[in-house]
Amino acid sequence: MERQIRGIPASPGIVVGYAHLLRWEVPDVRHRIIPDENIHDEIARLHEAIERAKERLRHLRMRVEASAGPEEAAIFDVQASILEDRALTRGVEELIRQNIGAEKAFDLVMLEWRTRFARHSAPMLRERVGDLTDVHIRVLSLLLGLPDHDPVDLPAGSNAILVTHDLTPSLTVQLDRRTIAAIATDAGTRTSHVAILARSLGLPAVVGLRTATTELVGGERIVLDGGTGMLAINPSDEEITRYHERQREEEVAEAALAELAALEAITLDGVRVTLRANVDIPEEAEAAARSGAEGVGLMRTEFLVVGRASMPDEEEQYRAYVRVVEAFAGKPVVIRTFDIGGDKLPMSGFPVEPNPFLGWRAIRMCLDQPDMFRTQLRAMLRAAVHGDLRIMLPLIVSLDEIHAARLLLDEAAAELGARGVPYRADVPLGVMIETPAAAVASDTLTGEVDFFSIGTNDLVQYTLAVDRGNANLAPRFTPLHPAVLRLIKRTVDVADLGGIEVSVCGEMASQPLMAFALLGLGVRQMSVAPRSVPLVKRLVRGVTAAHAKLAASAALRALTADQARRELARRLADVLGDAPYLYDGLPGAD
Ligand code: PEP
Ligand code: MG
Repeated sequence: MERQIRGIPASPGIVVGYAHLLRWEVPDVRHRIIPDENIHDEIARLHEAIERAKERLRHLRMRVEASAGPEEAAIFDVQASILEDRALTRGVEELIRQNIGAEKAFDLVMLEWRTRFARHSAPMLRERVGDLTDVHIRVLSLLLGLPDHDPVDLPAGSNAILVTHDLTPSLTVQLDRRTIAAIATDAGTRTSHVAILARSLGLPAVVGLRTATTELVGGERIVLDGGTGMLAINPSDEEITRYHERQREEEVAEAALAELAALEAITLDGVRVTLRANVDIPEEAEAAARSGAEGVGLMRTEFLVVGRASMPDEEEQYRAYVRVVEAFAGKPVVIRTFDIGGDKLPMSGFPVEPNPFLGWRAIRMCLDQPDMFRTQLRAMLRAAVHGDLRIMLPLIVSLDEIHAARLLLDEAAAELGARGVPYRADVPLGVMIETPAAAVASDTLTGEVDFFSIGTNDLVQYTLAVDRGNANLAPRFTPLHPAVLRLIKRTVDVADLGGIEVSVCGEMASQPLMAFALLGLGVRQMSVAPRSVPLVKRLVRGVTAAHAKLAASAALRALTADQARRELARRLADVLGDAPYLYDGLPGAD
């Protein structure tokens, strides 16, 4: 009997496959007293599990090195070295000699180590807590004979749908598209990082399912529809045939959309819109360029860091940025400085904060760690020699931050000059407008920057005080709320007055109805996931800017987000008919 669970559509595509359940959590361990005569065997059992865990890490390392690269694979060396630590094994052996079962002994020692490292004053040691947790789970699973859940051993083409609570960094680097066909998570929303990453990789995904890991045991036949947010468990053969038909229909529609790649994004009344792509992973740059995007409106560099044991050095960053710049051959490529820390890709090396959304992240963390920041800026200035690279700063709230960043940019340039390395000095510098402070006071910033880019994911989060990653709050995350629309309008007007460019690079721009609103608010540049480029282009080519302006005025007068949505939908349907694709995945849409 087919059962369905509904979640949040995160990345489109229909996949018929099998559930690969991944419960990456420390298992419960029972206390077991062992008799004296078994102590020797129990210690041997511990060592055997550790050897098997090491073997597994070697295997994982090879796989990840082949699929993602040597830097990503280095995370597994750190874990292997933990298992080689004699102090750790001695601690466990001692407890076993006191008649405690191997799994409980290992559990107790790991708990103690994790607590000790988490409290350590040295960031390098705090950074190891995530690795210790991975090792803790890995060895305990072996000692307890629990099923092996790592996604690494799936044979290629196995059509596995990865079902997990949330994606951790070490899982993220293991995502291999040859083995994993789609992702389903209990946690997350459309704007959370799992969703962003899945879209970048072109992997269909449904997030915010809440109960997927409890409703599934693994191995079930499932259908995942990333466009509607549906997960069907144990569908019948007839139902599977229907899904296959829908899959084919989607492919046909997608192929038709792809034909738009070579056409201009221009409205029926001749207003030109610049559509760029959001690129999160350098390896995706070439595919993004084929989507018809006129450059990159946002490269999220934090994905160079996720799941890594250390920060990427200048050379590695330089290579990554050059790859993207070259893929877009002379077209603008906006690269954002690291947006890490706090709730944003929490990094294991940094203190856990009581209020991470308002915490030490993004530009704040970069300005406080000038060496790390200058390394990134040097890599960017060097890569700028190869094309039209532009630098963008995230989470700006005040002009002081821009001044401080400019000073560091000058220092980075001076360092390159002293080294005699070629770089470009006049790289444009822009800021993200993603806090209410930056939007309201955007007029204080125009004199110091070359462009604005409105990050609606965070702007909505901070304006409405709605956690963007909380599945329970997803219906309250409404980009069409009057406060958000007014902040966008203000930012666009201020940029126009100040004579600087303004674009929108948040998720909002990739949804046709919202893109229609943005067009009407005067936005002429948008940056969206590569797959959404043709979708937004079709919208632009199907409407007039004059009509969009009228619709946006009505939306601005609306008293609620829902009313604004209805105003926009009615006016859009007037010109495009009631095409269902226009409303897919809209928060609050029924
Ligand atoms: C945003 O906040 O809208 C944005 C584009 O950046 P990110 O999603 O990476 O926070
Ligand atoms: Mg943001």
